[in-house]
Amino acid sequence: MIDILKAIAAKIDEEKDYLTELDNEIADGDHGVNMAKGFDAVVAKLDAMAGKDIGSILKTTGMTLVSTVGGSAGPLYGTAFMKAGAKLAGKNEMDGKDLVEAMEAAIGGIQMRGKATTGEKTMLDALCPAFDALKEGIEAGEELKDALTKAVKAAEDGVEYTKTIKATKGRASYIGDRSIGHQDPGATSAFYMLETLLANI
Ligand code: ADP
Ligand code: MG
Ligand code: MG
Repeated sequence: MIDILKAIAAKIDEEKDYLTELDNEIADGDHGVNMAKGFDAVVAKLDAMAGKDIGSILKTTGMTLVSTVGGSAGPLYGTAFMKAGAKLAGKNEMDGKDLVEAMEAAIGGIQMRGKATTGEKTMLDALCPAFDALKEGIEAGEELKDALTKAVKAAEDGVEYTKTIKATKGRASYIGDRSIGHQDPGATSAFYMLETLLANI
C-alpha cells in the first residue's frame, strides 16, 4: 500500500501541469497544484507508516489530504481515503472483495461530503463506472487484476464522457453550458489513481 501511494504521488506529480491546465479551462486552474501538494505531504508520512495495517495507512493518507489541501478535491479525496481506511481497518492484505468494499465506502464518503451524483461532471463520473465494473467482475469470480483492468477502462470512458456534459457541481458549474466540451480534471485524477493502482498490484 505504501508503494502504491508513492506511485500515485509520482503520477500526480508527473501530470500536475496537465491537471492544472484542464482545471484552468473550466474553473480556477489549481487541481494539479492542489493534488501534488496533498500527495507530497502524504509521501512525507509514508515511511513512518511501515508495518502499519492497510486501514491505518489509508486513514493517515486521507487525514493528510483533508488537512493540507484547500478547495474541493482534497477534502473529497481525503474523505474517500479515510472511509476506505475505516473499511480496511486491521488488514494487512487486501483481496478483490476488500477492494470492492473499500471503494464503495470511498465513493459513499465523496457523495456524503460533496452531494453530487454521476452526470454532474466530477470525479464520480470516473469512479462510479469503475466501481460498477470492479464489483461485477469480482462478483463473477474474476481475478482482481482482470476486474480492475475493466474498472480502469470504465474510468477512462468516464473521463471521455465528462467532455460531453455540463458541470452542475463545483467551480466549473459557474460557467454552465460553457463547460461542455472540456474534460473534468477531478475525473482525470481519479482515472490516474486507478490506473496506478492496477499497475502496482
Ligand atoms: P477547486 O474546485 O476547489 O479549485 P480542485 O480544482 O482541486 O478544487 O478540484 C476540482 C475537481 O473536484 C473537479 O474537477 C471535480 O471533479 C471535483 N469536484 C468538485 N465538486 C465536487 C463534488 N461536489 N463532488 C464530487 N467531486 C467534485
Ligand atoms: Mg480548481
Ligand atoms: Mg481552487
